[in-house]
Amino acid sequence: MPHFVIAGAGIGGLAAAIFLVRQGHQVTVFEHVADPTPVGAGLLLQPSGQEMLFELGLLDSVRRLAAVVHSLEGYSGRRKTLDLHYHSVHPDWSGLGVHRAQLHRTLLFAARELGVSIKLGNGIDDFKQCSTHLIVSHQQGECNADALIIANGTRSKLRENLNVKQSYRPYPWGAYWAVLDHDSWPFPHQLMQRYRGSRVMLGVLPTGVNPNTGKTCYSLFWSLHRSLFSIRQNEGLAGLVEQIRPIWPEVADWLSQAPKTEIAIAEYADVRMSSYHQDRVLVIGDAAHSMSPQLGQGANMALIDAKILAECVAGNASINLHSAFARYSERRRKHIAYYQMASRIMTPLYQSYFPYAWIRDAGTMLGRHLPPIYRQYMLTLCGAKQGVWDLKAHIDAL
Ligand SMILES: Cc1cc2nc3c(=O)[nH]c(=O)nc-3n(C[C@H](O)[C@H](O)[C@H](O)COP(=O)(O)OP(=O)(O)OC[C@H]3O[C@@H](n4cnc5c(N)ncnc54)[C@H](O)[C@@H]3O)c2cc1C
Repeated sequence: MPHFVIAGAGIGGLAAAIFLVRQGHQVTVFEHVADPTPVGAGLLLQPSGQEMLFELGLLDSVRRLAAVVHSLEGYSGRRKTLDLHYHSVHPDWSGLGVHRAQLHRTLLFAARELGVSIKLGNGIDDFKQCSTHLIVSHQQGECNADALIIANGTRSKLRENLNVKQSYRPYPWGAYWAVLDHDSWPFPHQLMQRYRGSRVMLGVLPTGVNPNTGKTCYSLFWSLHRSLFSIRQNEGLAGLVEQIRPIWPEVADWLSQAPKTEIAIAEYADVRMSSYHQDRVLVIGDAAHSMSPQLGQGANMALIDAKILAECVAGNASINLHSAFARYSERRRKHIAYYQMASRIMTPLYQSYFPYAWIRDAGTMLGRHLPPIYRQYMLTLCGAKQGVWDLKAHIDAL
């Protein structure tokens, strides 16, 4: 069976490793971080991502560490402008808010238990494609492989070695985030957001069990233009609390009273590739199609990539990797293109200095009163759509 080398033990890389090793492939994962500690914020796992976790046999483990999210609700001033309920699409569907570190740990343990060789603190620097194999250079030497899966995130330099048209564009906006414990927050099953036009957005996502404290936690996201990153960092926690106070006083009090609050800045970028493979190399996850997290799809898409990859290389030992990867690119193309387009359209409606918020609010109000449009919003959120005209989207089609 072919030997797969994976660059990056993130969500996509580990999920791919588990799927591949279960098919009997030899898999080695190289990760440049030596000690993956519980850092990061909350992720919203959509029904599409949950389905992939189910196929990995890990949905129950993740669910135990996560918060069930029934709805997404947003207020412009006192007006409720966003009101999306998962059960309106399917009575059993919901989102799962989970700390990134909990999801990562679950995948890492499962991969190790299945015998995946994981080389921590040993990043991949380069690779060379030969006619019969690949030579992969890592921090501690070289190894041969039949295929390389590049899963090393948005800022991948390995991706740039491929002779494939690609672009990397940082978004003008990012976010401040913090993870805060609370045992009686009034919205334990809702992702709540508050807006002031498209310049101000504050969100609180139920995030399940805090990996550092073992308590129930929430992730707080505060939209921030890149030009303000260093100014806001200098103002520190006190500055952030004062900005939040007029928007949501309860969150300002919570933040100011939280012990040892870690506040970090997240930057986003848009990555596009004309094809996800070249010969024996395939790019998956954020390395292939990073987008703004406004639609909450990135981790879900990385999990879907992993499953489709495994389906495309399933078979006997003499599999033709080039055509398997070409099949992968073809199968993923529509779904990825749809979500990249949706993310590009949606992001400035929530994060920009332009007066776009009325378009966003009019669109969501329209959706609330027109069930067919509302359903398309929901299917998009759930990760189930393959294109604008895919009106009967369902997760099994992924
Ligand atoms: C603030 C924020 C909120 C988000 N919210 C959501 C959400 O609600 N829902 C959602 O689905 N997604 C969300 N995302 C996106 C999600 O986190 C990513 O899409 C997801 O983590 C991508 O997984 P990945 O495996 O492709 O990359 P990553 O998880 O970034 O993993 C890449 C790995 O590669 C390693 N690496 C880097 N270079 C090398 C190298 N040369 N050699 C070896 N290893 C290397 C890195 O250390 C890392 O471990 C959010 C992102 C941000 C920033």
